[in-house]
Amino acid sequence: MLLDLLAKAATERRAAALSRQRHTAYSACAPYQTVCDRHGTPRPLLSFCSNDYLGMANNPSVIDAFAEGARRYGVGSGASHLVSGHSLAHQTLESELARWMEPYIPEAKALYFCTGYMANLAVLSALGRAGATLFCDKLNHASLIDGAQLARACTKRYAHCDLGMLSERLAASESQLKLIVTDSVFSMDGDIAPMTELLELAESHDAWIVVDDAHGFGLLGERGHGVLEHFGLSSKRFIYVGTLGKAAGVAGAFVAAHQSVVEHLVNVGRPYIYTTAAPPAAAHALLTSLTLIAGNDGRQRRAHLADLIHQLRAGLQTLLTRHAETGWQLTDSRTAIQPLVVGCNAAALELSGALEVDGIRVTPIRPPTVPEGTARLRITLSAAHSSDDVSRLLASLSVLMAQREIA
Ligand SMILES: *Cc1c(COP(=O)(O)O)cnc(C)c1O
Repeated sequence: MLLDLLAKAATERRAAALSRQRHTAYSACAPYQTVCDRHGTPRPLLSFCSNDYLGMANNPSVIDAFAEGARRYGVGSGASHLVSGHSLAHQTLESELARWMEPYIPEAKALYFCTGYMANLAVLSALGRAGATLFCDKLNHASLIDGAQLARACTKRYAHCDLGMLSERLAASESQLKLIVTDSVFSMDGDIAPMTELLELAESHDAWIVVDDAHGFGLLGERGHGVLEHFGLSSKRFIYVGTLGKAAGVAGAFVAAHQSVVEHLVNVGRPYIYTTAAPPAAAHALLTSLTLIAGNDGRQRRAHLADLIHQLRAGLQTLLTRHAETGWQLTDSRTAIQPLVVGCNAAALELSGALEVDGIRVTPIRPPTVPEGTARLRITLSAAHSSDDVSRLLASLSVLMAQREIA
């Protein structure tokens, strides 16, 4: 019977230290957030696990814009985009995003989605028809993996950022439509895909590139325009997905691509068509968020974040050298995602629990989100953090690592 099967699965999950649970937050997303701890008691914890990289989720100007948007457009869109839910707020946001992306994708148009998950499903299922081949990095985000499954295309995976293997696979393929599919900043490792080389391969094999910039948009590039600005690339071959619930602080995502691609998505992208349009107020708030990101405010936030990344990485490197016996490792990341890879699931849970006792929150990430044996604490930094916050995390880890040695 179903309930017996589920009970058995739950027992197995617990035995493998793979049970997941949610922790209810009582206050806004911010470095100090009141959250239910493991014992169900709400208390303020210093958090290093949100993707609110620029501190926009709780920014007063963005909050005001959201409220103004709600007053002007109401709280719900009432229908899908193709029926009657497409508002001036959505349209204005799309025009602004197209203007942002046009230097990197000639003749770009942008399309706003409710979530990045849905944007990835829409792109891959609409373009990955029978006859197409998707070439996917092994460490791609779950939404790209699911999108590839939804597509009726043939899927070939290549080892993480392995250009040699990708090149061989492309050369061996006789597919009419080749799509290289990659995260820009890998969500669980923080490293950046070699976009310049990927574009060279795309050009020499007549392929297109679907790039998911969930962790680059707002952060990479002088103006925060993302990974294509960062590498100074421009090509009609890019089909760009940027998410708007992370650095932009609100919700949703967009696809920017040649106008013909966007036109195709509006017509056949089922995750775009068959869902109620996101609240127009979210789109309205995003316009303010984008203005902040591209301006001086955003530049200062990115510079502060870069300082924090440097401080954390240097501090962690010192700790790992001092406690080499732990076998814990950093990844090759220069972004706000700085995972501490501890290996076994139970060790990751235990470390996260010990930090929580100290009033610090870092969620453990376990398989299947990351490969077996690479459970980690995914530490993320935000421009809303202070240098003292980072020092507090390092001090706490230092004590825990020393205690571990004694034990
Ligand atoms: C978060 C994330 C998504 C999904 O975006 P949502 O807007 O949260 O649905 C897609 N890709 C990557 C790499 C992500 O990290």
